[in-house]
Amino acid sequence: MRTVPHWIDGAETPGGGARRSTVFDPATGEQQAEVVLAEQADVDRAVASAVTAGLSWAQSSLSARTRVLFRFRELVDAAADELAELVSSEHGKVVSDARGEVQRGLEVVEFACGIPQLLKGDYSDQVSADVDSFSFRQPLGVVAGITPFNFPVMVPMWMHPVAIACGNVFVLKPSERDPSAALAVARLWQQAGLPDGVFSVVQGDKVAVDTLLDHPDVAAVSFVGSTPIARYVHQRAGAAGKRVQALGGAKNHAVVLPDADMAHTAAQLTAAAYGSAGQRCMAVSATVAVGDAADALVQALAAQADAVVLGPGRDAGSDMGPVITAAARDRVVAMVDSGEREGAQVVVDGRGRSVAGHEGGFFVGPTLLDGVTPDMEVYREEVFGPVHVVLRVDTLDEAIALVNANPYGNGTAVFTADGESARRFQRGVTVGMIGVNVPIPVPMAYYSFGGWKDSLFGDRHVHGPEGVSFYTRGKVVTARWPHVARPVTASMQFPTS
Ligand code: NAD
Repeated sequence: MRTVPHWIDGAETPGGGARRSTVFDPATGEQQAEVVLAEQADVDRAVASAVTAGLSWAQSSLSARTRVLFRFRELVDAAADELAELVSSEHGKVVSDARGEVQRGLEVVEFACGIPQLLKGDYSDQVSADVDSFSFRQPLGVVAGITPFNFPVMVPMWMHPVAIACGNVFVLKPSERDPSAALAVARLWQQAGLPDGVFSVVQGDKVAVDTLLDHPDVAAVSFVGSTPIARYVHQRAGAAGKRVQALGGAKNHAVVLPDADMAHTAAQLTAAAYGSAGQRCMAVSATVAVGDAADALVQALAAQADAVVLGPGRDAGSDMGPVITAAARDRVVAMVDSGEREGAQVVVDGRGRSVAGHEGGFFVGPTLLDGVTPDMEVYREEVFGPVHVVLRVDTLDEAIALVNANPYGNGTAVFTADGESARRFQRGVTVGMIGVNVPIPVPMAYYSFGGWKDSLFGDRHVHGPEGVSFYTRGKVVTARWPHVARPVTASMQFPTS
């Protein structure tokens, strides 16, 4: 049985603990590896190695850091297919989708290659006689990333390229369900010339997470995962005095107005609902049909859902793979059962679907529910599976009110041919990322990614300018270099100019 180790101080290590967790092949349901689970001493070792490496990394020149980033960019690009296969084998998503996640991660590396430009400060000449003021930003030190299973390459890459470019050292605690991609990325950093200890991986569960959250040498924590754990991480790391950004779960609504192009909209929503088997924090899981958009839309969505090819992620013919575990599959099925019990119509039923030759795989077929109301569990909970629910309202204002009443605020989209409606929507919703005729509005790497309300705890979003801000702290210097002899006395009054 393959064992997935930690990566500490530039080398693989099994660590000192005996605990292990199973890594499945979701397409077959069989175990394919085991991953070591860190004990506190393993995390302490990784952080100690990071502290030492950080002393020189923080002092390295911007040019030296940029050269490592450019080399890392080339290596990730060259390894993209290999990384995608690895992601697909442990996560279950189709390889082309995994390739897309690697590409979106790579774009953050490309953004971080511009770090000399991004770290430029401000300068004000002659703020007073012979006095100049300027600002610059410095790294925090050791920063930790704790990441979910659903994007094992991209989500960590939202964090570590920016953190490292800013001069920090980074300890990643990836999901224990698909842990191998983090190690592959660690090897690429080393090949790129990153000094040992600047990027480490501790595999593990709550023990590793809690040790990082409490560790006095960890200055900041970036977390992405479910809302209950995001809230917990924010509170615990915040209580320990750390800077925290904790991104949580989602319920992303697509609002469809009657003037939308229904064929285009249905195709976009189907891809956004069932891509990666719905296991995306930006998946469209709830469509809000406005006025007489509903019947034609549901009909088109049903036809499209029926056409989705369910199969193993490694098969080029599959559109949609399995979900991550048997427990995830059972939870998704239970959610659909509850929706049906509470009065929703099951228009397309993915329960009980299996794939020939892969009967043990964790498959659920695309599922479409109509007549869903906000009080139903299948709407209130994040399902995180291939379940798309349709709610019906009469007006755009009702749709906006529905979106805003939801505790999550990650992403949303409006489909319409009318600019005024789109503008009213984008200004009125309490959501962080908004699409206009775009179903999964994931911002480009040079903007920042993050939701509102229960989808993000903390005040800064990831990557882009807010990522640079999160991983650095500012200084403002007020300096006097008089041309003439320096004054030998100073006024006791508060300085004014
Ligand atoms: P999760 O919350 O179960 O796990 C995330 C991380 O937290 C993992 O590294 C895990 O080991 C750790 N963890 C789990 N339970 C813990 C506990 N009790 N104490 C301490 N640490 C713990 O999330 P997941 O199932 O891996 O990922 C799916 C979730 O992530 C969904 O809710 C999805 O919406 C969310 N997500 C959000 C975004 C976003 O940008 N907002 C992006 C991707 C995923």
